[in-house]
Amino acid sequence: MPWPLVRPDAKARMSNRPDFAEIEAMSRDPDRLIAYMDARNVEKLVMINYVSPSVVGFTEEANEFSAQMARPYPERLIPFGGIDPRREADVAARMDYLLGDLGLRGIKIHPPHQLLHVNGYLHSDTLRGLATVYEKCIEYRVPVMVHTGTSIFPRARNKYGNPLDIDDVLIDFPELNVIIAHGGRPLWMDEAFFLLRRFPNAYLDISGVPPKHLLRYFPWIERVADQTMFGSDWPGPGVKDIGRNIEDFYALPLSEDTKRKILRETAEKLFDRSLD
Ligand SMILES: [Zn+2]
Repeated sequence: MPWPLVRPDAKARMSNRPDFAEIEAMSRDPDRLIAYMDARNVEKLVMINYVSPSVVGFTEEANEFSAQMARPYPERLIPFGGIDPRREADVAARMDYLLGDLGLRGIKIHPPHQLLHVNGYLHSDTLRGLATVYEKCIEYRVPVMVHTGTSIFPRARNKYGNPLDIDDVLIDFPELNVIIAHGGRPLWMDEAFFLLRRFPNAYLDISGVPPKHLLRYFPWIERVADQTMFGSDWPGPGVKDIGRNIEDFYALPLSEDTKRKILRETAEKLFDRSLD
């Protein structure tokens, strides 16, 4: 995360932890991040970055940050970035830069932090460019990750967090792979499950859900294991350590098959498809 861009009140929500100095250091130094991963048997890590100038403080610089962090370790660090079509004169050219020149491998859209509906291209002139964002992701074969569920950051607006908005996107862009981040937790898990059942190109990530409570939130998870990926949300508020989350996940009463899919195979399938 590009900490220098984060607004002070948002940073205050994330910096009150004993390991914050080390997290900040890792965010400047990919070698340190790789050492953290090695110590926890983490082979690959997706770095979620996005654009949210008015809520969190992330400007478009977050994209160069993400790409630069990943550059020394292309086999291990997978950089995501973002875009706000309302701030772009030429969305298509900007997407060519992000996915072509910078080599970002996914786009994160955070509706409660970007103050938009992901289906806004249907209803708003200023958000028509979102359709171009989705078309370019199909062209470059990279997924779109959409934050779903609530956010308690200052200024976050939670009406944008309902995953059902993604229904339009999946209908209008049937070739697009969409990751439903956090499965709508804690309010809209049924909506997320509905989308996963309806659309084979909808994916779930379990980031931001404490693994110990996973089956309470997603009792149906084994039925969609082929579409589900592990994620931690580290170093987000309340997420102490990726390794701890993996251990807690392993301890769940799920089949070995499901665990292997969620920890490895679904992501391999998704990212291989986006590379070939
Ligand atoms: Zn999120």
